[in-house]
Amino acid sequence: MQKRLQPKTFTVQQAFDISPNMRRVILTGEDIRLLPADSAGQYVKLLFTPAGSTDLSTLPEGQKPVLRTFTISEFDAEQGNLSLDFVKHQHKGKSQHKDVLNPEQGGYACHWAMHAQPGEQISLGGPNIIQGLAEDSDWVLIIGDMTALPSIQLKTARLAADCRGYVVLALSCEQDLPALQLPAGVDLITVMEGEHSGNALAEKVTQLRWLEGSPAIWCACEFSNMRAIRQHISRQDQFDRKSCYISSYWKHGVTEDGHKVIKRDDQDSYHSKA
Ligand SMILES: Cc1cc2nc3c(=O)[nH]c(=O)nc-3n(C[C@H](O)[C@H](O)[C@H](O)COP(=O)(O)OP(=O)(O)OC[C@H]3O[C@@H](n4cnc5c(N)ncnc54)[C@H](O)[C@@H]3O)c2cc1C
Repeated sequence: MQKRLQPKTFTVQQAFDISPNMRRVILTGEDIRLLPADSAGQYVKLLFTPAGSTDLSTLPEGQKPVLRTFTISEFDAEQGNLSLDFVKHQHKGKSQHKDVLNPEQGGYACHWAMHAQPGEQISLGGPNIIQGLAEDSDWVLIIGDMTALPSIQLKTARLAADCRGYVVLALSCEQDLPALQLPAGVDLITVMEGEHSGNALAEKVTQLRWLEGSPAIWCACEFSNMRAIRQHISRQDQFDRKSCYISSYWKHGVTEDGHKVIKRDDQDSYHSKA
């Protein structure tokens, strides 16, 4: 197995809120040197036992760990640390007091981030590359919810000064908006997403004025929003699948394990219609 794909072990250096609904965990450790210099923006898999523990020595023989996917929001090879930003989704509403984890309800990653203490260890697989914005486009359309913020912050920081287009974000509240440095020609549009806001992100996207020329599109969000956005976008003039990344990062009501299966079936059926 390639070194890069083998699980690596890290130690929690710090954990703190960066906004009301986002928690950052900074990891450090010897294995940082095994990661490529351009790791920021790539995704990793956090490894848990079926009971939600990060102590993989308790994993029954032959049983695979439970995986959870997160984006490296910051990577500092010199300081020897990396950051992961977790949406605090399990800490809304009635699941707030959940102490016992089970595979049906999940929430392993969020629960871990909310309770992580300096000195604790966790194993990660990866990193792997997340597709970037297509080059040579006339304008950009970047869409995401809170799970995509780490990726979107890095992508918007690299936009050319003369770039035009839109960044459309669904946030839990206004204070969750990170500092984004956008070119003057790129409009920022935000929508606040509550428990009953349905496909609010997709609705915002359908209201956009489609610009002239071919867009580079990057979209990552909840599954049903993603489907509605994809349907709308694929009906537009100048739509070209090759300059599009449209992905679901999670799905209401199912854990990452269930979402993975639904996502694969959806992609198979979408690509079979190509
Ligand atoms: C490539 C990629 C990169 C990602 N990067 C990030 C990242 O940097 N930060 C981040 O926070 N997430 C990120 N995600 C999404 C993250 O993997 C999922 O949200 C994951 O389900 C969280 O795992 P969990 O153990 O906390 O909850 P799970 O056990 O997977 O789910 C438990 C319950 O919580 C619900 N749930 C899961 N996520 C959310 C959410 N965001 N809001 C509301 N309810 C939710 C599920 O529907 C389910 O009912 C990424 C996903 C992908 C595919």
